[in-house]
Amino acid sequence: MHTSLTEEARVQYRVHPPAFLDGKAKLLLIDGKLVPSVSGKTFKTYNPSTGKVLAEVAEAGREDIDRAVAAARRAFEEGPWSRFKPFDRQAVLLRLADLVEKHFDELCLIDTLDMGGPIARTSAARRRGVALLRYYAGLATATHGHTIDNSVDGDIFSYTLKEPVGVVAAINPWNGPLGLAIWKIAPVLATGCTMVLKPAEQAPLSPLRLGELCLEAGVPAGVVNIVTGFGEAGAALSAHPGVDKIAFTGSTEVGQHIVRASAGNMKRVSVELGGKSPNIVFADADLDQAVPGAAMAVFNNSGQICSAGTRLFVQRSIHDEFVQRVAAFAKTLRVGDPLDPQTQLGPLVSDTQLERVTGYLASGKAEGAQALSGGQRITEGALADGYFVAPTIFANVTDSMAIAREEIFGPVISAMPFDSIEEVIRRGNDTPYGLGAGVWTRDIGNAQRVSRGLRTGSVWVNCYQAMDPAVPFGGYKMSGYGRESGTEHMEEYLQTKAVWVKNPPEKR
Ligand code: NAP
Ligand code: MG
Repeated sequence: MHTSLTEEARVQYRVHPPAFLDGKAKLLLIDGKLVPSVSGKTFKTYNPSTGKVLAEVAEAGREDIDRAVAAARRAFEEGPWSRFKPFDRQAVLLRLADLVEKHFDELCLIDTLDMGGPIARTSAARRRGVALLRYYAGLATATHGHTIDNSVDGDIFSYTLKEPVGVVAAINPWNGPLGLAIWKIAPVLATGCTMVLKPAEQAPLSPLRLGELCLEAGVPAGVVNIVTGFGEAGAALSAHPGVDKIAFTGSTEVGQHIVRASAGNMKRVSVELGGKSPNIVFADADLDQAVPGAAMAVFNNSGQICSAGTRLFVQRSIHDEFVQRVAAFAKTLRVGDPLDPQTQLGPLVSDTQLERVTGYLASGKAEGAQALSGGQRITEGALADGYFVAPTIFANVTDSMAIAREEIFGPVISAMPFDSIEEVIRRGNDTPYGLGAGVWTRDIGNAQRVSRGLRTGSVWVNCYQAMDPAVPFGGYKMSGYGRESGTEHMEEYLQTKAVWVKNPPEKR
């Protein structure tokens, strides 16, 4: 179902455009100040629903990166931040959480305009965004080392200290600009690190607005710096000798560049990369839940989610019926203007992404897959100017086709039948990636065997993409390493120092 903007949404957006989009060029946040780039260069960010320019944004170059890293270093070593106690950092995080909550309508509208996420989806992220900040506020005062019983001769004891790792370079993709920025900022503030954040060029606006809120929340100058720009800015940042750790989320290809760039000064690295996640439906599953579950495991955010369950394995006895039902469900989804509260799928983020996804649609057909729904760009009426693709399920897919092996990052499911549990575990693992996986079954034995057998960072049983600030998320294999969320996330930003103390002999 394709819809264009309702009159109601049009009126609402005209009455309440985000105040942040005031027509002025958006600046870098360096050392507590909003500044243009040294070169004076800017770039444009676009609204993917219309292809029209949304804002001009400062384009950071090497000198801006140097300035931002120097500010972060000063703030880490000399600034008031280095004297903040855990309770003080907690207070900052709680104030930021309150501000994000207060300004959420504006923040989610900015994301909808900048990257095309349906407003129903971006506004529903309120609870998670605010909860993330409050969760890390709790962890700020819950971090501690241990005293450790050692077996060394003599009166000598040992304990560990947890210390912030230092200056963090955080580099993000565009598929959830606000949430991803919060996910990077929260552990920095909780642990006492400082940071330079580089959002993706395609959707840099909500991170910049979040930077303003950081200042309002009392984050001291230089603790959170935000530099917008292209891949070269990210490359300069990840190779910078003044950076102690890189927290990268993005493609596996760029992740490999990051790891190489980190070697110069042995930076700590965490990399959250791509995926080609298996979603496995057994014949005994509750199909009324599994049909929309399997569909939305891919169609959420128009498929632009790293853990999307894009390889749909269906037990042979129900395969044909199941894929037909997913196709019928896909045809009921409302694809349209993301400002319309009824819209379920918005556009892809950019013309480049549209080209990439339609390329895979063509390659799937050329290799003999059959599109049971969608299969093409939407070129009708008001949607023709945007980057809209109809939700697609391919049947007659084989494991070796490009659509079954490569990350598409669009609303495309590749469905395949399977017979036995051993077989589906083997095929599920037959990918360089290892991010997420789903299992749909009423049999607890099947669920456990598949959960243990798959080499992925998350497994969802009878659900998909459930997330919580307390539950760690991350990859196996070429989906990267390191975890975000949970106490594991804090460890990524902390050093462990062992201290040995020998009691001097008693004075006689
Ligand atoms: P991308 O091309 O890898 O870009 C990610 C970020 O890296 C952007 O800010 C980009 O800057 C920057 N960058 C590009 N080249 C760089 C270089 N040589 N050195 C340092 N930084 C560089 O990824 P994307 O296309 O934006 O996002 C989609 C990918 O992200 C997918 O593969 C998806 O699976 C993955 N992802 C993973 C997770 C996860 O948690 N595992 C979550 C979300 C997305 P510019 O954009 O300005 O060029
Ligand atoms: Mg944009």
